[in-house]
Amino acid sequence: MNTSQPPSTSQAPSEADSPILDSDRRHVWHPYSSTRSEVPVFAVKSASGVRLTLEDGRQLIDGMASWWCAIHGYNVPELNAAINRQLGNMAHIMFGGLTHAPAVELCEKLVEISPEGLQTVFLSDSGSVSVEIAMKMAVQYWHAEGKPGKQQFISLRKGYHGDTIGAMSVSDPETGMHSLFTGILAKNFFAPSPECAFGEPCSEEQIADLKTLLQSHHQTLAALILEPVVQGAGGMSFYSADYLKQAKALCEQYGVLLIADEIATGFGRSGRIFACEHAGISPDIMCVGKSLTGGYMTLAATLCTKQISDTVSDQPPFAFMHGPTFMGNPLACSVALESIHLLLTGDWQKKVRRIEQRLITGLERCRQLDDVAEVRVLGAIGVVELKQAVNMPVIQQAFVDAGVWIRPFGKLVYLMPPFIITDDELKLLTNAVFDVLNDGKHR
Ligand SMILES: *Cc1c(COP(=O)(O)O)cnc(C)c1O
Repeated sequence: MNTSQPPSTSQAPSEADSPILDSDRRHVWHPYSSTRSEVPVFAVKSASGVRLTLEDGRQLIDGMASWWCAIHGYNVPELNAAINRQLGNMAHIMFGGLTHAPAVELCEKLVEISPEGLQTVFLSDSGSVSVEIAMKMAVQYWHAEGKPGKQQFISLRKGYHGDTIGAMSVSDPETGMHSLFTGILAKNFFAPSPECAFGEPCSEEQIADLKTLLQSHHQTLAALILEPVVQGAGGMSFYSADYLKQAKALCEQYGVLLIADEIATGFGRSGRIFACEHAGISPDIMCVGKSLTGGYMTLAATLCTKQISDTVSDQPPFAFMHGPTFMGNPLACSVALESIHLLLTGDWQKKVRRIEQRLITGLERCRQLDDVAEVRVLGAIGVVELKQAVNMPVIQQAFVDAGVWIRPFGKLVYLMPPFIITDDELKLLTNAVFDVLNDGKHR
């Protein structure tokens, strides 16, 4: 998750002495954090359903689904069973020259539920890596097409595609701190973040900058990479499906591939299985990860059209040049298959629609607060955007004291709970957001 917040220096209320936390403070570096930070860290002993149980026995209702992942909640009997079954057969086997049912069945399933035209699946270990793979696929495709000069990318400001060097080069230059990494990041192009809101049309003017960039640079452009409809870690904002539709048409017009990064949006979060469906488009390449395994194991996949995989395969070097050691891990594939099965057979649309309604009503009264700039909801994502960045040590402690796990970043306080959350539990989350902000415990 991307936070460009400097570590705060204000004093956090101290947690009870704990050997785990002591050792954590001495040796463990957490995501996007300072080892000198005063932001408290909490030790979790177990998690079940939508509840995290801390080492000291307190229970927190989870509003984050562990960063989009745990769509079915925690300690899910069906997912536990899938891993246990597979463990009895094999935990892992190399994927070079060998294959197995969990990987084959998962790839088949992914193709079945993905937008039309995506047919070949390349498995990997994490979202960022699946983005690197998508970028390499695009470059190798154009090389095979006799256009080796097409090696650059366009992306959108406020976009986030991961933390590895290639993924960073297409993520927002400011929140991604490109100035800090100028020597190693490839120079790519950025179109403004779409201004047309979700549910609204997108005017010619609102997509003009993207069009101009494609027009001017298509000869060196391999692909446009974007998060369809929902820009996640770069700002938690929702944009017009019409923009996406027009972007796809422009890519076709200028001979540039479209890579859809569905790592955050995939598997129902935005109200569709994949957010591309809002626009009725099929990308040339698509990345999935995060909730792919229901949050159980790290796994990601890059899907592409048969035309791309055939073209890459038919030309020198007659191979796609990538192959992670843990590619197609059988445990991860098994639990992913079971997670998708649970989702598709579990009336997910009704669940997400219900969460959407409850988030809308539950967060509504935050609008009246002076420090709130905007409240927005799409699918099972609820966002309260403040006028100023929150005070992390204070607000983090306040949420835990209120019995909820909500992790804001920058100006954003947001909820994306597991789909199994009940109305009452959701109410505890939305009430906690209002109360904490109303009490000024974000300052
Ligand atoms: C989280 C995320 C990534 C990176 O995935 P990791 O598994 O953290 O490497 C890439 N793109 C989007 C849209 C994401 O939300």
